[in-house]
Amino acid sequence: VLSTMQDVPLLISRILAHGSTIHGSSQVTTWTGEGEPHRRSFAEIGARAAQLAHALREDLAVGDDERVATLMWNNAEHVEAYFAIPSMGAILHTLNLRLPPEQLAWIVNHAADRVVIANGSLLPLLAPLLPHLKTVEHVVVSGPGDRSLLDGASVRVHEYEDLIAGKPTAYDWPELDERAAAAMCYTSGTTGDPKGVVYSHRSIYLHSMQVNMAQSMGLTDEDTSLVVVPQFHVNAWGLPHATFMTGVNMLMPDRFLQPAPLAEMIEGEKPTHAAAVPTIWQGLLAELTAKPRDVSSLTQVTIGGSACPPSLMEAFDALGMRVCHAWGMTETSPLGTVARPPAHAIGTDEEFAYRLTQGRFPAGVEARLTGPGGERLPWDGESAGELEVRGNWIAGAYYNGPGAEPLRPEDKFSEDGWLKTGDVGTISPDGFLTLTDRAKDVIKSGGEWISSVELENALMSHPDVAEAAVVAVPDDKWGERPLATVVLKEGARVGFEELRAFLAEDGKIAKWQLPERWTVIEAVPKTSVGKFDKKVLRRQYAEGGLD
Ligand code: ADP
Repeated sequence: VLSTMQDVPLLISRILAHGSTIHGSSQVTTWTGEGEPHRRSFAEIGARAAQLAHALREDLAVGDDERVATLMWNNAEHVEAYFAIPSMGAILHTLNLRLPPEQLAWIVNHAADRVVIANGSLLPLLAPLLPHLKTVEHVVVSGPGDRSLLDGASVRVHEYEDLIAGKPTAYDWPELDERAAAAMCYTSGTTGDPKGVVYSHRSIYLHSMQVNMAQSMGLTDEDTSLVVVPQFHVNAWGLPHATFMTGVNMLMPDRFLQPAPLAEMIEGEKPTHAAAVPTIWQGLLAELTAKPRDVSSLTQVTIGGSACPPSLMEAFDALGMRVCHAWGMTETSPLGTVARPPAHAIGTDEEFAYRLTQGRFPAGVEARLTGPGGERLPWDGESAGELEVRGNWIAGAYYNGPGAEPLRPEDKFSEDGWLKTGDVGTISPDGFLTLTDRAKDVIKSGGEWISSVELENALMSHPDVAEAAVVAVPDDKWGERPLATVVLKEGARVGFEELRAFLAEDGKIAKWQLPERWTVIEAVPKTSVGKFDKKVLRRQYAEGGLD
């Protein structure tokens, strides 16, 4: 028997309509680097999104299901593209501007993007790429930057503002199937070719509701969120969509992602919330230590993307910026877990330990742990296995090019359709996930596993250590052993023996897990989204560069 309820599809156009009317006076503020930041209300964004949709359809003939790429920083125009493209029935394809050019070209060709909306400041990246982009016919340029870089290119170049000027400020958004593709994002392809994840209107809608829950980010229209996590990285963790549901103001850093402008933005614009990966926050912390600023408005900081080092959480807490740790991936939209301690732990000794876990699964994400032989492992907080998930905003396949069947590689999806995350960890009886490592980063020493993350966290709690990354290196006797690569703080002189002793102190790290190979490096290499790039470290070691 069917229900008696109305069947209204969950569409991005509905989120836009809601945000731009009910929360029409909320604002997107974009940092400009000099003078006043640029401010635009949700109502204006709604009107301009309609104009952009008209321009794309009428002037550039963008059809249904067509992928429209953005090569943009976090800013108001990118938010307009976020809403216009899916609402009109096309697919927003955010390009990761930090990927190596060959990979970017591969991705654009694979998605067969015909239109690219690009920030002017990114033309030095885009222009030399254009000859390799087989399907791109139109480039729409927004914001400051040297347009002459596109002279002679075999594409039509449009000025964003000219293109939308004079277009109607309303659009009769089509009533789409809620399961239709709305946005796509390629994983960074740490192994093999990048893989395209295609989000649906429905998945984004439901994910946005979860992001807004009190047990997730729990923001309201009294808040301003500093969205540092890039819009090209898993939809900026869903914030642009979620904020349009609740009227949370957004503060967008555009291309000013260095610690000093971030500190300036926080002091000047007084956001209450911020979201980014740990490396960004490590940088900000160093900046605030060197040059203290008033950051008292910022009381909640969402950290995810890689494990939050306990030392970072403590330091941020001490500054009044309470950290909320979360886990997710491109394939999970990304919200997979959020580490809000359960009520009984608040105010007790357990609270901090709960906050350091990756967090608890929300309704909408089911989880299970699989052992090396494919067996199900119990949620006992001890049995470690690969995490598998399924749910309303979890990918079930990858994009395989226009018209092709979706891809379901065996190493990424179980036979019964669960996503294999490649992350290894434990789950406590009350549903808190603790990741010990990525399957490919774990150090397999004499039949036992050593967690690279645990060693890194312990090292980074030493006052002389700025950053530390630990990778597995081949060892004749043990198969693999840990190599500790350490970035020292300026002027620090601590020696390896001392660091080793520090790790062993108070049983922080078991003796057999202590690294015997050490090296000091200038900086830990980072991936396109600011995570430790251990692939590079392993290669450097193999080539003899880290001895
Ligand atoms: P990439 O694979 O390029 O890093 P993703 O952003 O999809 O792109 O990365 C997802 C992965 O990041 C997860 O599978 C996990 O290994 C790691 N990750 C994300 N959040 C956390 C976290 N809070 N703690 C530890 N690892 C995390």
